Amino acid sequence: MIPSAPNSLLKTLFDAQHTASRAQTDVPLATRRSRLLRMKALIDDHGATLAQAVQKDFGVRSPQLTEIADLFVLRTLLSHTLKSLPKWMKPQKVSTPLYLQPASAYLQRQPLGVVGVVSPWNYPVQLALGPVITALAAGNRVMLKPSELTPATSALMADLIGKAFAPDELCVVLGGGELAAQFTSLPFDHLFFTGSTAVGRIVAKAAAANLTPTTLELGGKSPCIIDASCDLHAAATKIAHGKLLNAGQTCIAPDYVLLPTGREAAFGHAFAQAVAKLFPTIAGNPDYAAIISPRHHARLQTMLASAEQGGARLQIINTGGVATEGSRQMPPVLVFDAPPGCTLLQEEIFGPILPVLTYDSLDAAIEYINARPRPLALYWFGTDNAAQGKVLAQTVSGGVTINDTLMHIAHENLPFGGIGDSGWGSYHGEAGFLRLTMQKPVLVQSRWARGDLFYPPYGKRFDQVMGLLKRWL
Ligand code: NAD
Repeated sequence: MIPSAPNSLLKTLFDAQHTASRAQTDVPLATRRSRLLRMKALIDDHGATLAQAVQKDFGVRSPQLTEIADLFVLRTLLSHTLKSLPKWMKPQKVSTPLYLQPASAYLQRQPLGVVGVVSPWNYPVQLALGPVITALAAGNRVMLKPSELTPATSALMADLIGKAFAPDELCVVLGGGELAAQFTSLPFDHLFFTGSTAVGRIVAKAAAANLTPTTLELGGKSPCIIDASCDLHAAATKIAHGKLLNAGQTCIAPDYVLLPTGREAAFGHAFAQAVAKLFPTIAGNPDYAAIISPRHHARLQTMLASAEQGGARLQIINTGGVATEGSRQMPPVLVFDAPPGCTLLQEEIFGPILPVLTYDSLDAAIEYINARPRPLALYWFGTDNAAQGKVLAQTVSGGVTINDTLMHIAHENLPFGGIGDSGWGSYHGEAGFLRLTMQKPVLVQSRWARGDLFYPPYGKRFDQVMGLLKRWL
């Protein structure tokens, strides 16, 4: 447990950031670079300690997983941002229509002010510091509220940030849901929330009371379509990797598979082989992450039990190994014939359970997806270009990877975010910079301008000019 920051402290920190942001609206490149370089040093110097803290919070989670999925992602974000920042900060000239010429116009890119960031536990370093880095690059002041479910990691980030940043530049407040509710009621210039769809709805309401714009990076059920044309073994390996990274506790993990009818046994076999290669044992395997908390572990077990009671067939994979006491490592489970109403098919799973649904025609698979909230990610495996094109054209999701899982999140030039129930607004690369930047439109009038042609009193001259313009349009 970590102690919650008192409400008065929240207000004091916010007021200090707000005052500082209004006192310096023009944040030069050198200041932004200094903040990003301090963040880089924090990650370079303390990456290993952060990975240990994550391991402690999970019980079992390999430092290598934190290196690739948290720290490496931040390193690439920092490197790309530091290189691109001079270009991104420049005013963007826009062309001026004939009727306003010879005026000129541009977009001035300015910081929004104070950005609040609320982050989840599953990739606790990446999902806290990624939005923070983006907000700092855009010249903002930032307050971060990381997850209470990773107390060691959150406390370490608070300590390291407290040593590297002035509180009116960047600060961390610690606490659970109650503190988070107070935090999200602050009148931020932007609120960046990553977490569940249920809490996202609460955050959107709290922000609306202040007319605070939000970015909501939420969850949902991301489908994985296996086309008849695909190499099942190659697909099963990639699906197993994407599903079991962090034991399924990944927002864009494949939530369920849609498989051509009749391929169930072949897929079950290929998936089991893939898992055996990646994780020869589960219990006691340091590469296989534990479920974050007893509550989440119990939630997953209940989901499984109720699906089984409803007639589902479970294929539990790799139960071998010696369990570490209280580790909550849960073996992967394929679920066939799950009853349509069961929670496994209704709610985001966020664990190593993979329901396998079958389809008789591609139209039926697309219809199933489109009858549900729009997913955060969608995966398609196959070689049939027409089928691929049809899926891309007829479904809408936050992002897509073809013939792999997860990888679109790693591409800095692809905006990352959801749509509908899976969230709104996206970040990464320039898209993230712009999300947290005000693009102020500026028109510079020319002394040769003839706007007076449109002034009253309206008469013959006005009619002639409008006539010319109408013909020109
Ligand atoms: P969560 O919604 O329970 O908590 C996220 C954060 O919200 C925490 O910091 C928590 O303290 C805070 N919070 C709790 N109650 C609050 C309230 N009333 N008002 C404001 N904030 C509140 O989510 P979680 O369990 O930490 O994370 C898992 C969820 O996050 C999954 O649904 C997953 O899909 C989603 N997620 C999404 C992304 C993405 O990029 N789209 C990434 C990771 C996780």
